[in-house]
Amino acid sequence: GLGRGPTGPRRRRLLLLLNPFGGRGQALSWCQTHVLPMITEADISFNLIQTERANHARELVTGISLDEWDGIVTVSGDGLLYEVVNGLMDRPDWAAALRMPLGILPCGSGNALAAAINFHAGLAPALGLSLLQNCAVLLCRGTPSPLDLVSVTTASGTRVFSFLSVAWGLVADVDIESERLRRLGPARFALGTAARLLALHTYRGRLSYLPAVPRNASPPSPSSPPGGPVDDLLVPLGQPVPPSWVTLEGDFVLVLAIYQSHLGAELVAAPRARPDDGLIHLCYVRAGVSRGALLRALLAMTRGGGAGGTDAAAGPPLSRVPARAFRLEPLTPRGVLTVDGERVEYGPLQGQIHRGLARLLTP
Ligand code: ADP
Ligand code: MG
Repeated sequence: GLGRGPTGPRRRRLLLLLNPFGGRGQALSWCQTHVLPMITEADISFNLIQTERANHARELVTGISLDEWDGIVTVSGDGLLYEVVNGLMDRPDWAAALRMPLGILPCGSGNALAAAINFHAGLAPALGLSLLQNCAVLLCRGTPSPLDLVSVTTASGTRVFSFLSVAWGLVADVDIESERLRRLGPARFALGTAARLLALHTYRGRLSYLPAVPRNASPPSPSSPPGGPVDDLLVPLGQPVPPSWVTLEGDFVLVLAIYQSHLGAELVAAPRARPDDGLIHLCYVRAGVSRGALLRALLAMTRGGGAGGTDAAAGPPLSRVPARAFRLEPLTPRGVLTVDGERVEYGPLQGQIHRGLARLLTP
């Protein structure tokens, strides 16, 4: 095309990483039929690599040469992007690597980030192939904008980087138990939730957080120390939280630290959340809630992306507070903790926001 001669700007090159088992296993055929023609039409060149196993994408991006690509796009659910983010963080040049624009094309069963992008673009809520087509259009036009990451440290001292959520209780249980319903696609979450509502579990623990006030928004750190950014808001897990933190102890139905508007393609957990607001939207439901009240709150969340960004689910039984950092100390001996929908070791964990640490291709 015009101006794209040997001296003109080169075509954008995207690295597409596709999990052939994401969602109902349709990722490859959907991508070939609905995405690749659109990308070609937009004069973008690409390499498409299918992952062969879990962690393949993570290993791949730790070795790539950054200047060969204008973006890395995952074609799966949220889990594959989580691998890419953590693979980039594994690199010695992590700070430069995180400047790489990231994109997501929803072909998984958990497509929260894609639904959030669709929502912020002002498009009507979409599912399945329609959500994929919307996201493909947005991606072709997309420019990189800041994406917050939360650094999460678990009991063994392992640190992971999360763009979506940390969950304990109901939400985490549904995410993991419904894995065996994978062939149902997104419906696995609705069925899993219904089952969990009938046999409602509660979990004892302590939830502490640093409330977000305008002055403690940490500016993006200009330095890039080895091993990743410094968690300046956290003290080691073995020590008591700082005095400026709030601690709640008791029995919980769920605790969810979320930093995107959507928890699933149909579930709006924090309608006002933006990818770069520098906030952890800390949601929790305490024990003692009736099944009916809980069901109403969950249903309100499925309508939460309605006209004018209404926040139908706010208020009891669902509490939601803006925070910069949090610590979760389970006291119930067994349970499930997830980060971005992926299971992590059970035990105390804590996290803090790093504003705009990554970059996301958004319209
Ligand atoms: P979904 O939304 O359907 O769960 P994800 O993108 O979250 O899709 O992927 C689910 C899991 O599959 C993630 O833990 C990811 O690491 C893993 N994974 C990625 N590629 C493969 C593969 N080729 N085979 C098996 N598992 C894979
Ligand atoms: Mg997943």
